[in-house]
Formats: sequence, C-alpha cells, structure tokens
Amino acid sequence: MPLTRRSLLAAAIAARGGVGDARAQDCALTVEVDYNGWVGLDAWTEELEPKLPVWWRSINDALGRTACATAKTIRLEFYRIKPDSVAAAARGDKVLINAPYVLANRGNPDMFRMIAHELVHIAQAYPQAIGPAWVTEGIADYVRYYVLFPDDPGRAFDPGQEDWREGYSPAAGLLAWAETKWPGTLAAVNSAMRKGDKGDAALAAATGTEPELLWRSYLRSAPAAASAARRRAYWEGLKRGA
Ligand SMILES: [Zn+2]
Repeated sequence: MPLTRRSLLAAAIAARGGVGDARAQDCALTVEVDYNGWVGLDAWTEELEPKLPVWWRSINDALGRTACATAKTIRLEFYRIKPDSVAAAARGDKVLINAPYVLANRGNPDMFRMIAHELVHIAQAYPQAIGPAWVTEGIADYVRYYVLFPDDPGRAFDPGQEDWREGYSPAAGLLAWAETKWPGTLAAVNSAMRKGDKGDAALAAATGTEPELLWRSYLRSAPAAASAARRRAYWEGLKRGA
C-alpha cells in the first residue's frame, strides 16, 4: 500500500501509541469541580482552574514525569473540613477543599499555593503508608517553593526551632540543596517511593548520605531560607492576609 498523507499520519499516531497516549506524553490534566452546594467560590475556582494543567506539567517535570503515563482527571470538591485550619487535602485524584477557609482567604495567594502542594501529592501517588511523612511532605513543598513559586516567602524556616524531621519547608530546602549537588535526586526518590520503597532509604541511596549529615551540610551552605526573621515575616503576612 502506497504511503499517503493519511497513512503517514496514522503511522505517526501508531508510533506514539495512539491519540490517548500522545495526550498522556504531554502530561495532560483535566479538572472537574463539585461545589457541593457552596456558593461564592466561582471566581476563585475559575482563576485557579487554568493554572492547574500548567502546574501539573511542571510538577511532573520536576519529579521525573512518572505520573504522565495516562492522561489525568482530577476533581476539586468543596466541603467544610475540620479542623478549620486545614485549607485542603489530597485523596487519590481528588483535592478536598475547605470551602469556609477559601471564602475567608480568597484574596490570599497562599491559598492557590496550598492547592499546588496538594496537586503534588496527587502526582506522588505513593502506596498507602509509604513514608516517612517528612520525605513525602518535603517533596510536596520542594515543588511548591523551589519549582513552582521560587519567590514564595513560605520556604523560610527557623533553623533554631525546625529541622528536616518536620518535613515541609525545612525538608524542602534540604531536598532542593541535594538536587543541586546530586542532580536527579528528586526523580530517583519519587520513582522509588512510587514502587513502595521508603523515602529516607531512597534519599540515602541517591546521595550516599544520611539525612542528619545532609542537613548539617545544607545548613553550612548558609541558605537564605534558614532564617527565623523571614519565617516570622511569612507568618505575620499570612495573618494579615497578604
Ligand atoms: Zn502535604
């Protein structure tokens, strides 16, 4: 059969594994929203929605594109979540969002960034009970603070009060430093955890060093994020709704 333009196109699609897989390689994300009867959230959600597919690609680029094997659909679902101080939580491919919290903090850019953190958890998709939590939360905040929003003041931590065991911003700083010293560390740890390996063991394998020693080396590099004053300023800003 002679190669026509149409058969060439079909061959190209077949080589890429079909139309669906071509979308998956692009790391496509579809977003569904369920307000569950909550009103007054449309403008906030409409501003958020187009950001999510862009963040999804960046998250997966940072973590080795392990969550791009299939095109992904996620759901944003609004509830009243207890305790009141919880903004959002990821459950499988859903982001559960605390509607009263959003209604009270709509103008705060931190709200969108918290959703970005939850989106990282969807990309992680680690088997239940794979931890430790400090690595899981450290990776989520690494992507938030060092990939998506490098100007986010929330990356600051108080080195006199917090260390890597906290997860979140201290662990994010540690992981960002490790990634610059041993490029590919984040992708290696993420891939190992998706397969069911423990994150601290995977980090030690990728860097050849235990977390406490990594932490001390990281602090010796005098990172700007290790600042009690910057941490205080961030919390003050949050309280003001800045
Ligand atoms: Zn988290």
